[in-house]
Amino acid sequence: MTSNSGDTGSLPSRLFSLTERQQQRIEEVREIARTELVPLAEAGEPGHVNRQVLETMGKRGLLEGLFPKSSSGKQSRQAQAMELCILREALASVNTESETALALQGLGAYPILQSGSQEIVDEWIPKVAAGTAVAAFALTETGAGSDAAALELKAEPDGDGWRLFGEKIWISNAPEADIYTVFARTTPDAGARGVTAFAVPGAREGVGGEHIDLVAPHPIGTVTFDGVRVERGEVLGEVDRGFRVAMKTLDLFRPSVGAFAVGMGQAALDAAVEYTSTREAFGGYLSDQQAVAHALANMATQLEASRLLVYAAASAYDSGASSFEITHRSAMAKLYATETAQFVIDSAIQLHGARGLVRGHLLEHLYREVRATRIYEGASEIQRTIIGRSLYRSNQDKKSTK
Ligand SMILES: Cc1cc2nc3c(=O)[nH]c(=O)nc-3n(C[C@H](O)[C@H](O)[C@H](O)COP(=O)(O)OP(=O)(O)OC[C@H]3O[C@@H](n4cnc5c(N)ncnc54)[C@H](O)[C@@H]3O)c2cc1C
Repeated sequence: MTSNSGDTGSLPSRLFSLTERQQQRIEEVREIARTELVPLAEAGEPGHVNRQVLETMGKRGLLEGLFPKSSSGKQSRQAQAMELCILREALASVNTESETALALQGLGAYPILQSGSQEIVDEWIPKVAAGTAVAAFALTETGAGSDAAALELKAEPDGDGWRLFGEKIWISNAPEADIYTVFARTTPDAGARGVTAFAVPGAREGVGGEHIDLVAPHPIGTVTFDGVRVERGEVLGEVDRGFRVAMKTLDLFRPSVGAFAVGMGQAALDAAVEYTSTREAFGGYLSDQQAVAHALANMATQLEASRLLVYAAASAYDSGASSFEITHRSAMAKLYATETAQFVIDSAIQLHGARGLVRGHLLEHLYREVRATRIYEGASEIQRTIIGRSLYRSNQDKKSTK
């Protein structure tokens, strides 16, 4: 850990939780984003997959950070939650489109990495890590959103494999993805216990879908399955145990949604500090008003608390904490960081007055962008339910060991 350099006035120092190497990594990623990714993102079609951004992130080694290799060069099956969070926070503070493109490669491909056969891993992970194949995670259906275990996309037995029938909705990167992790029902009326995860190529016969336009540009749509053949070798994990594959991915990913939110919140806070310290009013600057400084203080404090919750959850994951603790911490990190980012960005707009609402302004963009984080990968209410449930279970466990 480096020594305290508090007299430089540089904030936040991040001395509490990140190593010097990790801090350097953040600066490197931000520089790549500023110089190489922003121009490519701006040249892309809003709301659609930007393959140039992905390929550049592949060439510059950012995507590799999501899929680390062992020292012998062999693909590791273990994802690094802290690296994922660092990448997401750093990119989000500069360019949300690139951030989202990177994140979705992990979301779509981690079930393959962690639960796929060696053949499926060898076929898809190198291409996803190079940014030449686009990945997607297809869980949600019209009738199964927050209640994901109610999903009904049908996997009908067909010889040694299955045929998929049905539709997924709100799937990021659909319908443009090259590889989908699809959660389908293999046993009717069995809830979470009758779901199987499959790796399904987007080019396979019978796969279709349509783009959906959201308030913030996001590559998202439906994906349809019209008798799509899937093989036994394309099962991720075990038959009827696919829901665990989904939850394992979400436990890993939720802190990183928090990191995305922290990155956006930091960009909004930086803008508000800059604006209020240069905006002349009442014979001085806005920053002379104590109410303004106090607003910034609240924003900064809650943002830092979010960041620490995110790092704590990521550290728990990487250090092999129990799945109980990981789930609990992941839910807290996502809940607090996304709710805070919404508050910080809204406050930053308030402090900017009308300027923050002009179309194309950074804050107007962030205001639209941050909204979905409180809904996807489990809405805030679902995170509270998870946290509440683990509190009661922990209390029960304490009593029974007395
Ligand atoms: C930008 C974006 C990207 C997405 N990407 C993906 C993706 O890549 N893959 C994928 O599978 N899905 C994706 N989703 C879907 C997302 O996961 C769902 O929208 C989410 O799970 C909520 O489901 P729903 O929209 O059907 O809301 P519903 O389930 O209808 O819930 C509506 C609201 O009701 C409240 N609520 C629900 N349940 C409870 C409860 N138990 N207690 C209290 N309140 C409750 C919450 O406020 C919730 O927002 C994405 C969504 C968005 C917006």
